[in-house]
Amino acid sequence: MKKRLLEKTSDKLSPLGFGAMRLPQKNGKIDRNEAKKQIYYGIDNGINIIDTAYIYGDSEKFLGEVLVGDYKNKVKIISKLPSFQVKKREDMDRILNEQLERLKRKCIDYYLIHSVDLKTINRLWKRGLAEFITDAKRNGKIKYVGFSYHGVKEEFETLIDSYDWDAVMVQYNYLDENIQASGEGIEYAASKGIGIFVMEPLKGGILAGKIPNEAEDIFKQSNPNKSSAQWALEWVLNNRNVTTVFSGMNSMEQINENLKTANETDALSMSLEDMETVESVKRVINRMLKINCSTCGYCMPCPQGVNIPECIKIYNEKYLFSEKGLITPSFINYYHYLGGVINNPSNAGKCNGCGKCLRKCPQKLDIPEELKKVEKEFEGHGFKSKILLIKKIGMPLFNLYNKLRGST
Ligand code: SF4
Ligand code: SF4
Repeated sequence: MKKRLLEKTSDKLSPLGFGAMRLPQKNGKIDRNEAKKQIYYGIDNGINIIDTAYIYGDSEKFLGEVLVGDYKNKVKIISKLPSFQVKKREDMDRILNEQLERLKRKCIDYYLIHSVDLKTINRLWKRGLAEFITDAKRNGKIKYVGFSYHGVKEEFETLIDSYDWDAVMVQYNYLDENIQASGEGIEYAASKGIGIFVMEPLKGGILAGKIPNEAEDIFKQSNPNKSSAQWALEWVLNNRNVTTVFSGMNSMEQINENLKTANETDALSMSLEDMETVESVKRVINRMLKINCSTCGYCMPCPQGVNIPECIKIYNEKYLFSEKGLITPSFINYYHYLGGVINNPSNAGKCNGCGKCLRKCPQKLDIPEELKKVEKEFEGHGFKSKILLIKKIGMPLFNLYNKLRGST
């Protein structure tokens, strides 16, 4: 895979990176055999950078276990300091030491301050972040430093100018071109030689797989052999300022498709016609998306047990796919997985408005308000009784679900 140069550090990095936040799961845990197979396959095919974080569950520990021997030396690691868990300078040292232990490494190549905005970074400067970075670099515990960003467009350049950063990680995809760091912000950071790592190129999967028919038709008319995920990834890789795009891959099919796109897409290689095709699709999806959630999961866990990203995703899907009628795939999904038909309830109606999730949402969504819309849409009166009834006819519902999903 042709590498891209990160000017500030002189590292030559693969345009496709492995995002280790959504590794394959089995019984609620990382499926270690499958995930190891996928990561080795990615590295064998040219990926030389992996992204993880302190808060990605077991991800750092898993990477420490499997990246041994040659595989350890072939990849650079990005990990992140959970800014929201740092109360004092000692927390930074304690967390970094724990991460190095989990990752079984002496040094983290790119250490990013996780999800900061101006207010957070100013709080961290006051708690000794600059001294921490200097010490960690001097002691060889981190090589390069940066931050990941979900804040507003207006603050991004100020943050870029606030320190001698080596790299930044930003959310960037064709739907979010003008929000958060934005294309302009990326251009500004890149003009200073700062590496641009991109997260959410598929907006939490919304831009992959089954996109609305109207949008799908536009893509297919332009090229019947290219998937919606390929279009989305290609659009990001086409930006000459982007160093590496991280995709949270968890199947061999996804990995192969993304490797193919990364191998075939040079910066500025997209035709004007293809760019216009993406613009048309963007107009269609923007018109239909109800809640601007990337399903990043940073708002979790909710003390009341609400599965916030899933509630919103199912709500969005109902509108994206213009589902009509009462018993629709999103309705069945909601009752089945969130309502408590097959497991503990994690539905929107359980939200008590405590607001603990609010400051964690990078998209600045008013989550309790959005959940009220989800509740109104799917639950209505007597939700618990409906669940009890469904439980009694659980199997027929499950069969109906499979039939509507076309998987039986
Ligand atoms: S406001 Fe609602 S969704 Fe958010 S943490 Fe509290 S109970 Fe959970
Ligand atoms: S509500 Fe916000 S924090 Fe939660 S998954 Fe969506 S975008 Fe992420």
